[in-house]
Amino acid sequence: MTTGERMPAVFIGHGTPFNALQDNRFTQAWSVFGRQIPRPRAILAISAHWYIGATAATPMPTPPTVHDFYGFPPEMYQISYPAPGAPALVAALQELVAPVWLQSDTEQWGLDHGTWSVLVHMFPAADIPVVQLSIDGRQPPEYHLELGKRLSPLRDEGVLVMGSGNIVHNLRLMDRRRPGSGPEWAARYDALIQRYVAEGDDEALVQYERHPDSDLAVPTPDHYLPLLYAAGLRRNDDASEVLVDGLDIGCVSMTSIKLG
Ligand code: ZN
Repeated sequence: MTTGERMPAVFIGHGTPFNALQDNRFTQAWSVFGRQIPRPRAILAISAHWYIGATAATPMPTPPTVHDFYGFPPEMYQISYPAPGAPALVAALQELVAPVWLQSDTEQWGLDHGTWSVLVHMFPAADIPVVQLSIDGRQPPEYHLELGKRLSPLRDEGVLVMGSGNIVHNLRLMDRRRPGSGPEWAARYDALIQRYVAEGDDEALVQYERHPDSDLAVPTPDHYLPLLYAAGLRRNDDASEVLVDGLDIGCVSMTSIKLG
């Protein structure tokens, strides 16, 4: 099915789960983005929080809202994002990524907070079908960029592909007394990666560990890798646009980037 209108790809810096209930300049940018683009036929979300030893997707007719965190206030566990699923999209994914074997996961997962904390702002009606795609943590960065490239035809079929993570993400250094701020190395690393995206330098994005700040900025790859899917989905003539950026809680960068 072709809708005639090509969807952008997007990378969202999601930050703390509390963003789901907050109204701040990051969540406002997500909301504006949702209103600006054509209405998607479906959403494919690649969340940092489904980081497993396989490439898998959620085929359920109604994917459960997964509250994938511990020790949060009760209201965080009451959040529900009851979007329908899109089993047909999972079947299409299996063809697109072949010969990579994409598991259809009917039981383990659903929509986690990397997806729903953003979508409650972007598409609050929860009436657009959503599928989540896992990140195979056994694979090198090149694999994720390549998978993004294979998903690229979805953009011509009205599917919004959203990578949700954070360019800088180091929870060991979290400081809740520092909302809206962070250290110099975090700003420096975030700016570097933003520049690579602006220049379309996929090779530099894949080799993100080369920079000395990466030890602090990307201590584990889970929150960085969703950016590589968005980069892979980009076409040569696509512009990139930073929707919002800035640091938060002393250890994450909240950069969100629209591609195309
Ligand atoms: Zn996260």
